[in-house]
This record gives sequence, structure tokens and C-alpha cells, in this order.
Amino acid sequence: MIVRTRFAPSPTGFLHIGGARTALFSWAFAKKNVGQFILRIEDTDVARSTPEAVQAILDGMQWLGLDYDEGPFYQMQRMDRYKQVLQTMLDAGTAYYCYCTKDELDALRESQMQQGAKPRYDGRWRPESGKTLATPPQDIPPVIRFKNPQVGNVVWRDLVKGEISIANQELDDLIIARADGTPTYNFCVVVDDWEMGITQVIRGDDHVNNTPRQINMLMALGATIPQYAHLSMILGSDGQKLSKRHGAVSVMQYHEDGYLPEAILNYLARLGWSHGDEEIFSMQQFCQWFDLDHITSSAAQFNTEKLNWLNAHYIKLADNNLLAADVTERLAKLNIKVTAQPPLLEVIGLYKERVNTLNELATNIAYFYQQPVRDAVAAEKHLTADIMPAMTNLVALLKAVDWQPEAIHQAINEVVTQHALKFPKVAMPLRVMLTGIAQSPSIDQVMALLGKSEVLSRIEAALP
Ligand code: GLU
Repeated sequence: MIVRTRFAPSPTGFLHIGGARTALFSWAFAKKNVGQFILRIEDTDVARSTPEAVQAILDGMQWLGLDYDEGPFYQMQRMDRYKQVLQTMLDAGTAYYCYCTKDELDALRESQMQQGAKPRYDGRWRPESGKTLATPPQDIPPVIRFKNPQVGNVVWRDLVKGEISIANQELDDLIIARADGTPTYNFCVVVDDWEMGITQVIRGDDHVNNTPRQINMLMALGATIPQYAHLSMILGSDGQKLSKRHGAVSVMQYHEDGYLPEAILNYLARLGWSHGDEEIFSMQQFCQWFDLDHITSSAAQFNTEKLNWLNAHYIKLADNNLLAADVTERLAKLNIKVTAQPPLLEVIGLYKERVNTLNELATNIAYFYQQPVRDAVAAEKHLTADIMPAMTNLVALLKAVDWQPEAIHQAINEVVTQHALKFPKVAMPLRVMLTGIAQSPSIDQVMALLGKSEVLSRIEAALP
């Protein structure tokens, strides 16, 4: 049997971190088993679905490199097919028309609650042998309900949660088409999973309550029941459900914030799944290792520090040309134009091991292409009057230097000796003058890249 998985987002918002992990696991499971991965857009909630949200899903998937073998399929384009299946079920007696008005259902609910019973449909329009139904009213457009079995249990072995058993008595007859004829959410999922030949449904555990109903409908259709894997949710670092409060929730926000897709993917892969102690691995490795047995059934907790650590790792590994293209755009957004000098590739080489995000990279190197923005605290601490004679002296020495890191270093050393100072006593003010802040890579390398005339003019501008 060919493995076929799907990702079936509702386009009502961004592709968020939880959705991306569901997509990643479904994708990896298909890859691991040389199967197919399908993208299905569940857009039947017309009030909440938007084209922008569809685009956000497609963009997010593309940015992460989660390619699909089939789709995107749009449920709104499959209405005719759902209606055909509804008719088949009506004909087969596994679904029936229900003419209850809203008032009747409200009254039913009310009386059940008063009696301390769980509110549920009482089956008054459910056909049974030997039961006489009322005459259908002419003026009430009926809904269609699924004729759920009334005895026995729905049992499945969830690939994450283990065996789950739900008594059919707990499930009343679900509405599968509204009075206007449109099919409802659970029904569309069933028809699609069936017709798309889905073999493993991997999704968030907020859907676990839908599963017994969906299984019953699939059985009524004579469909093969897929396996189910319900992923536990992702919590924020504070243990609360992951939400907008936790900063970036949209995957594309991480893109904007300067994360590499490799880092996001690697991070998401470890969110609830493990392969021994492996923390850093490629998607190729992940697709070889991934299985559903090593998914934890407990909730996973989001940890930004770990994501940053992975991102720093992938930035270090990244090709400098790719980083240069990316950072040029980020600098342009800050109105900073990258010029030919100092060479961006070298600047990146100097900084790529020191940053957690590409935004950090861009802001850290901005001073190469514009005048530094001076940090007031650093300036007050390091640009003290007593150091200025040494700096004046340094300018004189630097003028004669052949502009190489070693020679620059020697010039600084000479000033250090002449003025009986320690190296940092000169290097720190130099950093503040040249970069605006007191942290930088090796100062002679920074100076070598900045260029002689720029270095001299920045120091001179800072002298009293
Ligand atoms: N459309 C549902 C959602 O976005 C997922 C349904 C499913 O995976 O079965 O939550």
C-alpha cells in the first residue's frame, strides 16, 4: 500500500508554528515511506476563509520547502462531489433529512439541561424500522444528519495516543449538510480523506473528538479507515497554549525576523519527536529517521533560546553569497545601501559566527555602510578625556601603516606601550568610535575592512 498523507489547513489566518509542524510531520512521513503528500485547503468556512490566508499557507510551505505531490485541492471546488456523496448516503439510508427548527432544538436542549442530561439530538427524524415519522413540513428546508450507530464503540489505535475507544452512545446524529444544502466540515474531511486515499491522518489533537464521528462515516461509506496520529499541542515557554502573546506565531514572521528555514525545520522536527540525542540534523536525515513511534504524547514546549541556537548554527554553515543577498535586502529595508567597499562577503565572514538571526547580522554590520550609531552608555564609559592623547597619537601612526590587520595591530600595540596602557584601554574606545558600540570582532580586522580613510575620519571626528 502506498502511503498517502495530507496537510489540511483551514485558511483562516497565518500558517502558524503548530500548523507548520503538522505539515512537516505529514510531509516527512510520506517521504520516509516513499509515499505522497497532499495539500488540501479546507476553505468551506466562507465567513472566515480569506485568499490572503491561502496565500500565507502557500508562501509558508514554499519558504520551508515542504513540497507536495498533489494539490492544493480546495474544498470549495469540490462541492458537487460532496453533494453527490450526500445523495448516495440518503439513498443508502446512512443519512436522513431532519426538519427540526431552531426553536425546537433550543427547546429540546433546554429540557435536557433541566433534567441534568447532556444536550443531544433525540433522533426524532431518524428513520428506524417500525417507527413512523411525522409528515415532513413543506415550509422547512431540512438539514441532513448522519445516522450514527447507536450501539458499540468506535475504537482506533492512535499512532501517538494509543488505543482510544468511544461509545457510540456518546455521539448523536451529526448534521452533515446545512439547510441550504452545503456540507459541513466533518463531512468534507471524510469524503476527501476517503477519495484522496489518505492512509495516515496526522493532525493536531484538537481534532481527536472528530475522529470517532469521521470513522463512523467512513465505515458507512465502505471506505478503508486510515490510521490516525494526533499530535499534542505546542505550549509557549510559560506552559500556556501557544498564542500571539508568545511573539511570532506566523511562520513568515520568523522569516522576517531573520530565521533560516533550515533552523525552523530542525527546531520543529524536535518539537515532540526525537531520535536518540540528535539535535542538529538535515531534512534529508529527518526524512530517513522520522517515525510516529517516537512522538511524545505530552505537550511540547516552545523554547526560543533553542531555536536561536539552531539558527546561529545554520547561519554559520550558510553560504556567504546567500547570506549577502539576504542581508542586502534587510539593510535596504533600513535604508542602508550596501556599497562595493567594504566587500560585503568579507564583512559577513567576520560576523556570521557571532549572530543568532539575520536581522542581527544586518544591524551588526550596518556601521560598515553608514556612520555608526553611537551607544551613549558605551561612549560615556570608554570615550574619556584621559584616553584622547593616545587616540591622537594612534591617528598619526595609522596614517603611515600599510593597511593590513597585522600592521594595524602593531600600530595599536605601539600606542599601548608608549602610553603605558593595557590593550583594551585603547581597543574599547576605538570600537566605540568606529562601530558605535563596545563589542566587535577583532578590532584590527574591523579596521582593515573599514578602510584606512574611513577609520581615520571616524577617529578624528570623535577626538575633542
Ligand atoms: N482544517 C483543519 C484545521 O485547520 C484540519 C483538519 C484535519 O487535519 O483533519 O484545523
